[in-house]
Amino acid sequence: MKLISLDKDYSIKLNSQVTNYLNPDFIYVPIKNNPVTFKKNSKIKKGDLIFNQYYASISGRVIAIKKCIMWDKSSEKCLIIANDFQEKLASRIATRKKINNLTIEEIKQDLKDISEDKLFKSLDIKHIIICGIDDEPYIANEVFIQKENTKIILETIDVLLNIFPGSTAHVCIKNIDSENIMTYTNFLGTYTNIELNLVEDLYLIGQEQNLIQKLNIKDSYLYLKTSEVFALYNNIKKRKPLFETFITITGDALKNPQVINTKLGVKVLDIINTYYKLDINNYDVYVNGLMQGTKMNIADLIVTKELKGLIIMNKSKNKTKNCINCGKCIEICPINSNPLLAYKKGIKVKCINCGLCTYICPAYINLKNYLVGDSNE
Ligand code: SF4
Ligand code: SF4
Repeated sequence: MKLISLDKDYSIKLNSQVTNYLNPDFIYVPIKNNPVTFKKNSKIKKGDLIFNQYYASISGRVIAIKKCIMWDKSSEKCLIIANDFQEKLASRIATRKKINNLTIEEIKQDLKDISEDKLFKSLDIKHIIICGIDDEPYIANEVFIQKENTKIILETIDVLLNIFPGSTAHVCIKNIDSENIMTYTNFLGTYTNIELNLVEDLYLIGQEQNLIQKLNIKDSYLYLKTSEVFALYNNIKKRKPLFETFITITGDALKNPQVINTKLGVKVLDIINTYYKLDINNYDVYVNGLMQGTKMNIADLIVTKELKGLIIMNKSKNKTKNCINCGKCIEICPINSNPLLAYKKGIKVKCINCGLCTYICPAYINLKNYLVGDSNE
């Protein structure tokens, strides 16, 4: 895949500290196809399994069911839990004192909860690839997770190295991520089997196949994002399911863009109203990024682990023009696809939803909408 460097607006700078949004008034838990066994006023403890893989991130009471919007624009009925602000915890297994002596069977289950069953493609793992790169301009969750949890991440990688004797770990970050480069360099002396790999600031360099190619890995490997390593630590050490996630809220319409550590299930608008005094209807809001994300109405959007962030932009003054047949959209496509066929003839073409054709188009045509079959937007 050919990778390119993107022009960025360097005037948009994130706060250096993560903001915690951990006491929401309500959370919304997607019901999906699960049977609802909770009645109105049922008491919930933090950590209770509400539905398959969905744990309550607060304690409180069930108050209602309401339709909400997910990161991909789908709508789901959600169970609303009102916070009692007591953080009453469901009983759970005690925290492990030591984690460097775990067996592969113990790790298996924890890792499966976090990143499905990647681990079990092979037990003969030679390389553990840890990707600390956010592959979307302006989103910086992986960068901040590492900044805040460097020691924890290294400790967890060391556990994985014990599980796969003879393996080497490669922590991959961008060569422009100076703060994390410095922190890792300070800690890495004690971990001889963990290498720091600095990669160029190219769009999509953090995707599994691109990183593997860049590192020239030919043997069996395990690939994890740093957010997955952090979630694994909480699972194996604290025996804690995922309650929280990092999201980036940024864009040229905001005075203080920031990364927020929020409870899962929170309504995004509640976060916006807490930190930004703006009427969201007056802006263009892109969910999960300008390149791979989607412009949408976020009135009923909730935080799930797939939500990476919001880019809030002043309304674009660029008007869509007629196609001038310049061919730039075809030229830039990293997988040699032809977005013009989708735009002009409605033909379904191969697409990884990278957004590059829309980004490059001088006529401001939102090709992405035609590629995903959403041209009415
Ligand atoms: S980049 Fe835009 S203007 Fe150029 S051919 Fe593609 S759609 Fe047409
Ligand atoms: S969005 Fe799809 S068609 Fe457009 S450049 Fe990316 S892969 Fe190619």
